[in-house]
Amino acid sequence: MIELTEVTKVYAGGVAALGGVSLRIDRGELVAIVGPSGSGKSTMLNVLGTLDRPTTGTVRIDRYDVARLPDTGLSALRATRIGFVFQQFHLASGVRALDNVADGLLYSGLRPAHRQKRAAAALERVGLGHRMDHRPHELSGGERQRVAVARAVAGEPAVLLADEPTGALDSVSGAGVMQLLRDLHAGGTTVVIITHDRDIAASLPRQVRMRDGRILEEVLA
Ligand code: ADP
Ligand code: MG
Repeated sequence: MIELTEVTKVYAGGVAALGGVSLRIDRGELVAIVGPSGSGKSTMLNVLGTLDRPTTGTVRIDRYDVARLPDTGLSALRATRIGFVFQQFHLASGVRALDNVADGLLYSGLRPAHRQKRAAAALERVGLGHRMDHRPHELSGGERQRVAVARAVAGEPAVLLADEPTGALDSVSGAGVMQLLRDLHAGGTTVVIITHDRDIAASLPRQVRMRDGRILEEVLA
């Protein structure tokens, strides 16, 4: 479903963040990408999610060669097939949970009433049916991340990419978010979780260990 072949990424300024990475993630997998800070995890997620293009190498998503798609095609691919969750939630402040999730469906082609319906269902799915009218500042960190997860999955993407989703949470909320991601995986979503936390990584069926912009090893549970 996602395939990186010999991907490198050199940022302007000369930092080589990825030094030749090949990785295949199949439909239905639950994968941890683990490594210390600065090892290239976020860069890899951005490339996996088509937020950034590689310097060299190829990225294929659902058999589309990302390099051959124009920016508009890439945006469409991303909007319909990929959901993102970030460490700092990235919710719109002052906007209630329902609209934060519904706005994630702006490019789905659904009418506003349908977007709201889908958003409400997604919030129910993450256990926040009773918090739909709350603004981010009226929610706990764990609840905010659940809203972000609801937004990411409301469009039923084929793959969910999460970059340090528990990094800003206390351990109890973090465990709740991890359970939610496991539940989504059990429901059929392909889930990729980036983490620097070895215990979280070890709890997942497949670990891709990174160091200095390369894949060091893979571990299957
Ligand atoms: P991780 O997520 O594992 O902490 P990153 O992928 O964020 O690692 O970063 C890998 C390397 O690339 C680091 O040395 C970082 O400083 C550098 N880097 C990340 N983003 C940029 C950028 N936009 N411009 C220049 N260098 C960057
Ligand atoms: Mg990172």
